[in-house]
Amino acid sequence: MKIYIANMGKEMKILVINSGSSSIKYKLISMKKEEVLAKGLIEKIGSKDALLEQKTFHGKKYKDAREILNHEQGISLIIEMLLNGEYGVLKNINEIDGIGHRVLHGGDKFSNPVLITEEVKDKIRECIPLGPLHNPNNLKGIEAMEKVLPNVKQVATFDTAFHQSMPDYAYIYGIPYKFYQEEKIRRYGFHGSSHRYVSEKAIQTLDNKKNLKIITCHLGNGGSLCAIKDGKCIDTSMGLTPLEGIVMGTRSGDIDPAIIFNIAKKLDMTIQEIDDMLNKYSGILGISGVSNDMRELIKAINENNPRAILAMNVFTYKIKKYIGSYLATLNGADAIVFTGGIGENSYFPRELICKDLENLGIKIDVEKNKNTILGKEGFINKKDSNIKILVLSTDEELVIARDTKDIIN
Ligand code: ADP
Repeated sequence: MKIYIANMGKEMKILVINSGSSSIKYKLISMKKEEVLAKGLIEKIGSKDALLEQKTFHGKKYKDAREILNHEQGISLIIEMLLNGEYGVLKNINEIDGIGHRVLHGGDKFSNPVLITEEVKDKIRECIPLGPLHNPNNLKGIEAMEKVLPNVKQVATFDTAFHQSMPDYAYIYGIPYKFYQEEKIRRYGFHGSSHRYVSEKAIQTLDNKKNLKIITCHLGNGGSLCAIKDGKCIDTSMGLTPLEGIVMGTRSGDIDPAIIFNIAKKLDMTIQEIDDMLNKYSGILGISGVSNDMRELIKAINENNPRAILAMNVFTYKIKKYIGSYLATLNGADAIVFTGGIGENSYFPRELICKDLENLGIKIDVEKNKNTILGKEGFINKKDSNIKILVLSTDEELVIARDTKDIIN
């Protein structure tokens, strides 16, 4: 079975940047064979002992702690490391043909990746109220790169873009319409590059049939589901922010909004404290009291920890309910796809999610499921399952690199 079709093209090197508040992740990809030449991470930007780590395709590893005070220094260091005689992979800076940036929130302004211009940066800035924690840091990465490599074209790929095809009845919340009109409060959805990438891979795997209906489950530390018809998103579980939807590592997912008023009044908690509680201390971590990490949760389940078992049951039950609702939204489905750190590697939650759905045409093959982990891809459904179940690995950086290549070409 051939799941992955490499995008053969002219030799071109693209640097992909994911710039966060105190970290920058990067990958340099050679587009001819879509091969990662180097990848790295800078952490604790703004401190005297910031960390830099880089690995290359020829097995060279570099790790160091040093002062990195801002994003510009971080970006300069990345370029320096890529050019480093011993640990680097480039001889000349001109070998970088384009730079692709991951940008969290494109609001309703971007439904596709775009070449970065002053106007585009202004629009990303206008989306800051929607993505206050991410968009300013994404912009810092873009502006630092402009200073360091002013002649190289830069492209922005938005986490929200793929979901812009949702119909209005899927993205409008049941609150007064003026909040949408005046404040742009609506469902946007996230993980768009991942849902797009794995759904395209699934369509290839299913012989490029037309009008396929696919439910993609991106299950990582953050997680979301997406209902896709003929390659287009028609609904997704995350909302205005990544807090809505399924139960995640540390995020609550859907709750009764009245819980917020209730605890604010009873426990005298501030808005910021409740925000932190729902984003950082809830989800699998909050229910289990063990960890947000699936591997730790499974360890605790194996030791019969009742709250770890409960957290797993809540996590998988919620995903099952979303799959049920998307089967209704799509009027059936051809395939369900699992991806992300949990979706690709952890067979137990997949088994719980797909169990007891025979009446809906979903029959998981328990043995195939157990064997499809750690980078393996493929079908995990029984032969007579009406709906195919697939495990596919995602690669958000590759999506950004492909977008960048297409746009600068
Ligand atoms: P994110 O990108 O959202 O930070 P990832 O997609 O990297 O997250 O997924 C992280 C999750 O994947 C963690 O809960 C981790 O425990 C889980 N995971 C990664 N590898 C495995 C594995 N081999 N077995 C079980 N869970 C795994």
